[in-house]
Amino acid sequence: MNRDERERYSRQILFSAIGEAGQEKLLAAGAVLVGCGALGTVVTNLMVRAGLGHLVVVDRDFVEPSNLQRQTLFEESDARDALPKAIAAERRLRAVNSGVQVEGIVADLTPDNALDLLDGFPVILDGTDNFETRLLVNDAALFLGVPWIYAAAVGSYGVTMTIRPGKTACLACLLESENGKSASGAEDTCDTLGVLNSVAGIIACVEAAEATKLLSGHPEALNGRLLSCDVWTGKFQSIRVERNPNCRACVQRNFLYLEGRFQPRISVCGRDSVQIHERRRALDLRELGHRAAAASASDVRNNDFLLRFRVAPYEMTVFPDGRAIVKGTQDPAIARSLYARYIGS
Ligand SMILES: [Zn+2]
Repeated sequence: MNRDERERYSRQILFSAIGEAGQEKLLAAGAVLVGCGALGTVVTNLMVRAGLGHLVVVDRDFVEPSNLQRQTLFEESDARDALPKAIAAERRLRAVNSGVQVEGIVADLTPDNALDLLDGFPVILDGTDNFETRLLVNDAALFLGVPWIYAAAVGSYGVTMTIRPGKTACLACLLESENGKSASGAEDTCDTLGVLNSVAGIIACVEAAEATKLLSGHPEALNGRLLSCDVWTGKFQSIRVERNPNCRACVQRNFLYLEGRFQPRISVCGRDSVQIHERRRALDLRELGHRAAAASASDVRNNDFLLRFRVAPYEMTVFPDGRAIVKGTQDPAIARSLYARYIGS
């Protein structure tokens, strides 16, 4: 550690459990975040300020005005420019701490890329907004033998648990019943129920504390329990989750999500959009933009990361890997037909 670092992190080094030795470990450690929304922006802000060595931010989405209420890394200009969240987060986090190597990756975590994206990090941070992706992260973390920190917030309620392969219960122990089906009611999202920024903040702060313990070499300090809170009723709870002796994932190592058996080609995401997970299809977005304009699309806009245009009442956003988000509908058939018409079948 040099003099500047010793000064910069002095208040954390003074905290006796961390000290110089813990800070050195943090500076040499890395983390990968999946999903940079309400939780992800808070946890990465804290980890970058705490002096992580390197951080990779994986996110599939772009910044919208409705994100600004809780996604603390983003600004109005990011929404205006429709910047991908991974890119906007990378820029902001580099400005917060130039000593941390930050890399943003615009991608949807899928069974095809999960191991490539998540391998090589001592911890995986959960910032996702759906259980399909979390169960994929759970499978990948168990496969790789890497701890991950589950975190979720919706409405005024939030929950988090640190999952360590072979040592604690995993997300499948917690969510899946005997027949391997996901527990019902787990699919409420911020797009249907809304979310308070305060609860996302609390949960992400606990997530950052747990990551700091892990990366500074103090696994004994991990809270080891499922922590939940409701900031509206003021109820805070922590419960012990036992491992399921027959768990599909952490005992039988039956990685259904990693094998891609639950990967839809097309999915409803949010209150009024559909995502088409077309991949392995490199697109020339400028060329496509010209073609869309010629085919009566309006408001055609390109930036370096995506193409967006309107076909009233719908809005289509296309990424270079062929993925697309169609806003203004929940009907996969409409999304598919727009995709075929403007991108190709
Ligand atoms: Zn398990």
